[in-house]
Amino acid sequence: MRLTLLGTGDAVGTPKIGCNCPACADAREGGKSQRLRFSILVESEQGKILIDTSPDLRQQLLRQNLSGIDAVIWTHGHYDHYAGFGEFYRVQNEVNVYGIRETLDYIDQYVSFLNPRYHYVKLYEPFEIIGLQFTLFKVTHPPVETPAGEELSSVMEMPARLWLPVILTRISLKKVWS
Ligand SMILES: [Zn+2]
Ligand SMILES: [Zn+2]
Repeated sequence: MRLTLLGTGDAVGTPKIGCNCPACADAREGGKSQRLRFSILVESEQGKILIDTSPDLRQQLLRQNLSGIDAVIWTHGHYDHYAGFGEFYRVQNEVNVYGIRETLDYIDQYVSFLNPRYHYVKLYEPFEIIGLQFTLFKVTHPPVETPAGEELSSVMEMPARLWLPVILTRISLKKVWS
C-alpha cells in the first residue's frame, strides 16, 4: 500500500490569490510554502483510489502521470474537497464514488453530468475497495453537519492501520504501516 499526499493545502491553496503574507510570497517565488489543495492518492496492488478531488486535480493527476482511477472517496461536500472531479470530463466516465448519502447527494448537484456511480456508505461501517478496508467516521468540522474522517487499513496486512483525519488540512502521519 502506498499513500501520496497530492495536496495538503488550505481551502484557497498557497499562495492565496491577492495575499502578500510571507508564506504566500515564498510560495509565489516557488518556495516550499507552495501547496495544492486536498487530495490523497491511495495505491494497492489491486488499484488506485483518490480520497477527495481537489480543485487542483488536473495538475495533480498530470504530475502523477495518472490516466484513470478505480474510485473516489469523498469526505465531505466542501468545494476544495470535490470541485476537481469535473476534471474527469472526457478523461474517465462513470467513476465509482463513495461517501455518506448526505455528501454524495450534495456533490451530485455539481457533478451529475459525469454520471458517477454512487456507492452509499455508512459511518463506522467498513467497506472494501482495491483490497483495502476503509471506515468513515464523524469528525468535528463546523459548519458541515457530518464530515467524515477515514480509517484505512490493509485487509491483506492486518494489523497495518493508519488513521487519517482527512478532514483537517493538517495531517498527522505518525503511524507507519508494514
Ligand atoms: Zn498568504
Ligand atoms: Zn471542509
